[in-house]
Amino acid sequence: MAKDCKACVVGSGPNGLAAAIVLAQAGLAVDVFEAESTPGGGARTLPLTLPGFLHDFGSAVHPFGIGSPFFSSLPLDKYGLEWIHSPAPLAHPFDNGTAITLERRFEDARATLGEDANIWIDLMLPFVEHWKQLVLQVLGPVFAIPTHPLLMARFGMYGLLSAKVIATRFRSERTRGLFAGMAAHSFLALDECLSGSFGMLLGIAAHAVGWPIPRGGAQSLTNALCSYLSSLGGRVRVSSRVESFAALSDYQLILCDLTPRQMVRVAGSSLSSGYKSKLEQFRYGPGAFKVDYALARPVPWKAPECLRAATVHLGGTFDEIAASESSMRSGENAERPFVLFAQPSLFDSTRAPAGKHTAWAYCHVPNGSRVDMLPRIESQIERFAPGFRDCVLSRHVFSPADLEAMDANLVGGDISGGQMNFRQLLFRPTRSQYSTSAKQIYICSSSTPPGGGVHGMCGYHAAMKALKDHSLIGRKS
Ligand SMILES: Cc1cc2nc3c(=O)[nH]c(=O)nc-3n(C[C@H](O)[C@H](O)[C@H](O)COP(=O)(O)OP(=O)(O)OC[C@H]3O[C@@H](n4cnc5c(N)ncnc54)[C@H](O)[C@@H]3O)c2cc1C
Repeated sequence: MAKDCKACVVGSGPNGLAAAIVLAQAGLAVDVFEAESTPGGGARTLPLTLPGFLHDFGSAVHPFGIGSPFFSSLPLDKYGLEWIHSPAPLAHPFDNGTAITLERRFEDARATLGEDANIWIDLMLPFVEHWKQLVLQVLGPVFAIPTHPLLMARFGMYGLLSAKVIATRFRSERTRGLFAGMAAHSFLALDECLSGSFGMLLGIAAHAVGWPIPRGGAQSLTNALCSYLSSLGGRVRVSSRVESFAALSDYQLILCDLTPRQMVRVAGSSLSSGYKSKLEQFRYGPGAFKVDYALARPVPWKAPECLRAATVHLGGTFDEIAASESSMRSGENAERPFVLFAQPSLFDSTRAPAGKHTAWAYCHVPNGSRVDMLPRIESQIERFAPGFRDCVLSRHVFSPADLEAMDANLVGGDISGGQMNFRQLLFRPTRSQYSTSAKQIYICSSSTPPGGGVHGMCGYHAAMKALKDHSLIGRKS
């Protein structure tokens, strides 16, 4: 492809950068326009509290970053990306001062899962053994013919079930709680169909590739993507918010790492009214309420096993987590919210001054909620780590509106680029998925398949579609 074909990407989140890299690999001249002063969108690491403390603004733990078929095809280690695995991917404490951990190796998981070990392994093993095939399908284009139909039929069967149904297989309340926490990443109520698939997929990923953190934070992944893009001739222009597509008339292809609401606002004059009205029907999901902490010492967990995991899920039993997620789905703020907690500095000393620590916590809230969830989040942390508040040197609180102010894609605090119900899994954001009504404009954000998470596959598929549609594949300058 001759360098005279110019493409641009609006937004430098993981999907925008993935799209830019695919286009640059095909030989196009690529510019990325990023509104904020630091690239990365939901994958940025920022000094949010005290000097010397570095916090992941968005993503902290990256099972689909390490497991991404596209990211793992790139030489990102040569550009500074190093994955760190905590000894256990996940810990889940209970009120009696104990915790269950999810261990990466099945041999180790047997001991922690006890009476449910065989049931757990029977459920996960067939997919762990075929992780590479599974992830290609699950993070692939939704309507592609499965290359491994039996594997996908089996996964699809579990995927359609709710977390509640899958959890009935387990005998112990502890295993049911563990599964509930993983399924709750779906932002769905745990009796909704599809919620089980999130629990399954995160469990399978924990055994297959782990739940690693990048040394230096999510920004290291973003920086590696930017550096690799630059080695291909692409450029990222920060502090360059695109307000209207009139400014992009020089570009033959425009890929948008934007959600439908911004598409209408920014690209509106280039899109047909029929297509815009479809975008307006897109549904956003619940929001997040997040807190970043600078800590004087490690979190004083009652259960010491919690210090072995970068991720800790705080919510206790299945029923309690289900109640929290169900209130959020009915538009209410849970009194005892399920809290997702990350403690990266225990495993990565670059995040905080010696002896000090960082932590990140969030809970799910109705989209755009204005309720201050800080006291409820901290009560949940104190419940499993009495004395936690005494360790806090500084905190930075993000309401849903604050999250959106930091990254315009986080509409109402929705961190997944839109609700993940059955309809929006298939037709995301519309039936035409990555394509729009304008033949040179594509959407490549997590509002397209396969949806939220740091994996870059939305950007990859959108860029491949654009290259195919314009017969630009396989031609190099
Ligand atoms: C609090 C939080 C915790 C999370 N935790 C995890 C996690 O642990 N693991 C995980 O895998 N995922 C996690 N995620 C989700 C993950 O960050 C997102 O799914 C992912 O970043 C989506 O990538 P994207 O490229 O589609 O969009 P984004 O990362 O949101 O990037 C969009 C970019 O577009 C830019 N932009 C928007 N409008 C314009 C404009 N008009 N002009 C120019 N630029 C514009 C934005 O500034 C932003 O940089 C988390 C997200 C948040 C917020």
